[in-house]
Amino acid sequence: MRKEPLAGAELNELVVRLQKLSRNLWWSWDQEAQDFFQELSPRGWQNLFHNAVAVLREVSEYELRMRLQDDDFECHARGILENFEAYLSEKNTWGHKNAPHLLKHPVAYFSAEFGLHESLPISAGGLGILAGDHAKSASDLGLGFVGIGLFYREGYFQQAVDNNNWQTEFYNLIDPQNVPLEPVLGPDGQPLVLQAEIDMNRVQFRAWRVNVGRVPVYLLDTNLPENAQHFRDLTARVYGGDRSMRIMQEILLGVGGVRLLRKLGVEPSVFHMNEGHAAFLTLELIREKMAAGQNFSDAQAATRAQCIFTTHTPVEAGHDRFTLELMDYAFQLFHTQLTVPFDDIMALGRVNPKDAQESFCMTVLALKLSHAANGVSELHGDVSRHMWHDLYPNVPVEKVPISHITNGIHLLGWMKGPVRQFWRKRLKEGKDNAAAACREKFGSDWAAAVNSIEFWEKMTDPDFVSDEELWALRYRLRREMIEFVRRRLLLQHQRLGPGDFIRFDHLLNPDALTIGFARRFATYKRAPLIFQQFDNIVKLARDKKRPIQFIFAGKAHPRDDEGKRFIQQIIHLSKHSELAGYLVFVENYDVHAARQMASGCDVWLNNPRRPLEASGTSGMKTGCHGCLNLSILDGWWREGYDKTNGFAIGGDSHPDNIEEQDRLDSANLYQTLTKQVVPMFFDRDGQGIPRQWIQRIRRAMVTLVPQFTTDRMVKEYTHKYYSER
Ligand SMILES: *Cc1c(COP(=O)(O)O)cnc(C)c1O
Repeated sequence: MRKEPLAGAELNELVVRLQKLSRNLWWSWDQEAQDFFQELSPRGWQNLFHNAVAVLREVSEYELRMRLQDDDFECHARGILENFEAYLSEKNTWGHKNAPHLLKHPVAYFSAEFGLHESLPISAGGLGILAGDHAKSASDLGLGFVGIGLFYREGYFQQAVDNNNWQTEFYNLIDPQNVPLEPVLGPDGQPLVLQAEIDMNRVQFRAWRVNVGRVPVYLLDTNLPENAQHFRDLTARVYGGDRSMRIMQEILLGVGGVRLLRKLGVEPSVFHMNEGHAAFLTLELIREKMAAGQNFSDAQAATRAQCIFTTHTPVEAGHDRFTLELMDYAFQLFHTQLTVPFDDIMALGRVNPKDAQESFCMTVLALKLSHAANGVSELHGDVSRHMWHDLYPNVPVEKVPISHITNGIHLLGWMKGPVRQFWRKRLKEGKDNAAAACREKFGSDWAAAVNSIEFWEKMTDPDFVSDEELWALRYRLRREMIEFVRRRLLLQHQRLGPGDFIRFDHLLNPDALTIGFARRFATYKRAPLIFQQFDNIVKLARDKKRPIQFIFAGKAHPRDDEGKRFIQQIIHLSKHSELAGYLVFVENYDVHAARQMASGCDVWLNNPRRPLEASGTSGMKTGCHGCLNLSILDGWWREGYDKTNGFAIGGDSHPDNIEEQDRLDSANLYQTLTKQVVPMFFDRDGQGIPRQWIQRIRRAMVTLVPQFTTDRMVKEYTHKYYSER
């Protein structure tokens, strides 16, 4: 029992420390911190996108002070704050040991999107998620690292499906006060304001800092009264507007980003361009060098020595191209500071510098001004070397200087709360030798343990975790996801008004083999492929003894009508076909929905047109939850699959003809489903446990989970590209 109430100064200090904690996304991958904010306001936590800043504001400082008078609650708070502060001040990190030079001269990582948390929806898809996970792992590893992106105050669109099953888009204004953002201030305590030359204007911008554990990510924002309205709106939406909006956003990101770093006194040793959107940073680096007296050619060489580039897609439309007229217009003022003809600048973005008809390509600019470049999986590296061979006509295709580093995910960030607890408990309390050995190696550093190959190797050991425990976990996760899906469908139903009577509490079956498909509805991802075998799928799904169900989610680009038709078609089937009740579409796919689905489904389906899925990352989020991949051998899965740890659709090749590929893949998909997936899932022993299926889950945990993390990926970037030159 407490002797004296917490008073004045002590209480103030605790409140200030909690507010600081809320403005650091570290809590988004720390279970105890999340439990704390959830306990503070369970409803707020659920309704405010699991956002610690918003929860603290909602409960008011008065309530927080009262709650802290409770011994247990205060103790919980102090424990978390100690962990958090110890994390921030740790000096014995992987980065200190392996890349000490970066602590003074960090990596500057430029990305048009950062997918960091559901409360800050400024990412359109996998590219942004990867950037966010890269930053989180850089933090965990203690790497010298700074992120640069844009603050889109309306973010990426929210998806609402209308009564015609047609996707509509709306935007929520993000209030910087209410999300984990801090204004970047100048010495006078006022927001720092900088300028970038865009067309004939000096556009003013400010910046917001997202604290991602130990590393900052700065987001640039042009919404200042000094700017004309169309410049204020430059950072309104992720990839909003037309080509001219796009080029201006990219000038702001590249040129503005370098200027912000200079102003903050950050002297990066490496500029990492995450996708071509960021490549205008090279022009600013060249401008700086020429202003300091270098000639154009030396300035290019020196810039090249500073830059590296990651390309993310073989899809043609994913590579920004701008016409000569647009380039000339957008750079007119900037260009006055460079004493070179504009043609020479255009040449930097052309495969054939002399071809005046060729548009300016951001990928070409990035490749020409980097000393190293990579794709994001082995196959994608190969495809990229072919794709850009023309740029290097004097070398054979296998010598084209584009390598690969396969993508990953930030494991702790993607792990669902109960699963974090499940594994942590085993590490802490496991009585067998395996757990003890792991404890000895990693001590209390649970984050390091959970990323280690040693930890996941224990999954073959039934004493570490039994089949029964794994199967119970699977039930729990499937059940939780079904509740999540029912809730979303109910909300949608309430919005659309009375239509058919749907019994939401009976929708979906917690015993059924649950197949998930959630990704952007880009047409190459072929969301409806499985329904090409419609009659067969209906028979499979409605089998009384071996029921299957499908959960779909995903957004189509606002201007992609074909993608929207895919959504419409799937929702139509879910309501008006024999699959009704066995198929649902969940609205507004986001980070939260991704976590729910990648943990709750039994099978994660991916059927892109090969080789267009450069890597894919959603399938990597499933392994630690015991969900298995069923995928085309494209992107990361081509490297991950080993015949024992999931399922493959087809083999390691594909026909060039698209129609033929679609036909073949749909037949192979059905074949794998009926010959392997369904029989194995329903092959139960006397206790009702599918031993062979669980064996696959164990194999997936051993062979995939620690390999496909951003922990491994960022270490690879460090060794290959961030090391001292
Ligand atoms: C992981 C993730 C993605 C990337 O998924 P792919 O496998 O590349 O399709 C896209 N969007 C969200 C919200 C995600 O969480």
